[in-house]
Amino acid sequence: MRLPHSLTDELIQAVYFLAALLFIVGLKRMSSPKGARGGIVWAGIGMLIAGLITFLWPGMHNDILILTAIFLGGIAAWWSGKRVPMTAMPQMVALYNGMGGGAAAAIACEELIRGRALANAPAVLAVIGAIIGAVSFSGSLIAFAKLQGLINKSLRYGAQQVVNALVFLTTLALGGWMVVLHGAAPSAIVIAFFALALLFGVLVTLPIGGADMPVVISLYNACTGLAVAFEGFVLGNAAMIIAGMVVGAAGTLLTQLMAKAMNRSIANVLFSNFGETAAQGGEIAGSLKPIEASDAAVMMAYASKVIVVPGYGMAVAQAQHKIWELCQLLIERGVTVRFAIHPVAGRMPGHMNVLLAEAGVPYDLIGDLEEINSDFESADVALIIGANDVVNPVARTDKSSPIYGMPILNADKAKNVIVIKRGKGAGFSGIENALFYLDNTRMLYGDAQKAGAELIQAVKTLD
Ligand code: NDP
Repeated sequence: MRLPHSLTDELIQAVYFLAALLFIVGLKRMSSPKGARGGIVWAGIGMLIAGLITFLWPGMHNDILILTAIFLGGIAAWWSGKRVPMTAMPQMVALYNGMGGGAAAAIACEELIRGRALANAPAVLAVIGAIIGAVSFSGSLIAFAKLQGLINKSLRYGAQQVVNALVFLTTLALGGWMVVLHGAAPSAIVIAFFALALLFGVLVTLPIGGADMPVVISLYNACTGLAVAFEGFVLGNAAMIIAGMVVGAAGTLLTQLMAKAMNRSIANVLFSNFGETAAQGGEIAGSLKPIEASDAAVMMAYASKVIVVPGYGMAVAQAQHKIWELCQLLIERGVTVRFAIHPVAGRMPGHMNVLLAEAGVPYDLIGDLEEINSDFESADVALIIGANDVVNPVARTDKSSPIYGMPILNADKAKNVIVIKRGKGAGFSGIENALFYLDNTRMLYGDAQKAGAELIQAVKTLD
């Protein structure tokens, strides 16, 4: 059933405005762990009503096909959302984000391939959105494949940048041609343009080190938002413009935050092959000193303040529940316990916050880098669980180190440091950690979940 044109138009625009408000409220709520879950629901409601109202659009047709696509996509998203482990979240984000870029590019393709001048906006907007969307789509798929371990090597060869530049310039030239033809270009040109844009996304992502993929995904996320906004102009769809802008801005800020927290530029992330080239850095003096769980338990049980530093290894081991159980035992004994979270601990910003929230750790026990760093000096024990680079003191001291300048948690300043990890495995950056060799550091070797269980048993046996 369709309403009269003028009425539907006003109704649709009003609902799009409401949806945009819900997106913004949702995003605002996502900025704190307390409101994050609610924020997702608010933004989801916005997306739902924007989607539903679009069916009233006078020009809508193929309703059955669209509903079938929504149904199938919805089932796939529900199924994968329920099943995916926290450690695989970056690749899932890559996949979903890539779909957004692909959808924006598909809209542009449909508009351009019709071979007639665009109704709502100059062709240049469709072409820009198409390039960004297509690159985000194919680039995100490569990022997914790298994180999922489907592609293990970074493709590098001589004159790579020249080849990439040629592909990009040819894409731009074809895009420029389509603009000159006001969107009425022959289909062969449109197809060649999209094929090259997709190829460019693949070529530019293949050489980037797998460990840098989360930053790349965040960058593509920002690009997807922009592509959607451009295509929103093409379709004259306010909800797409606003949602695209919000995603574009949020993705850009997140990318900057990640790069800043690693003290690296976006260009360094894109072109340095970080973590895959031989890492340098000065020699480290001292030795690794192991400790038994029973002794580590005594150190913590009789401490007055313990600061827990979770890292990627805690996520791999899914040790958050055991660690929180251990901390509760310590708190019952009168120990002050706090959690210190580095902005890029784990493989995505917020990774640790989500895990700790899932285990039931109260938000007021969690401090971020700026807030908690001065507390380490008064801590009796810093308990490091599967964290490595984010506590490596060479970032402060060794100018030759690849992580020099990266802000780190000052765990080395605690009176004692206990490190839970399985062996001598390096962190994301591939370099040795000077913290592990300090006189006041003891290594509790083992999987973080197993070590957590041993510590719980050991603390329980103490008076
Ligand atoms: P790291 O990757 O530096 O170190 C993780 C450590 O966990 C390893 O040394 C490993 O040692 C240990 N580990 C792995 N599995 C287990 C397990 N089952 N039980 C116990 N320990 C385990 O992690 P961090 O969190 O300290 O640092 C994150 C790094 O990732 C930073 O360099 C950051 O810049 C980078 N990064 C983060 C992004 C983000 O947004 N969060 C994005 C991109 C990069 P072993 O093998 O010996 O057990």
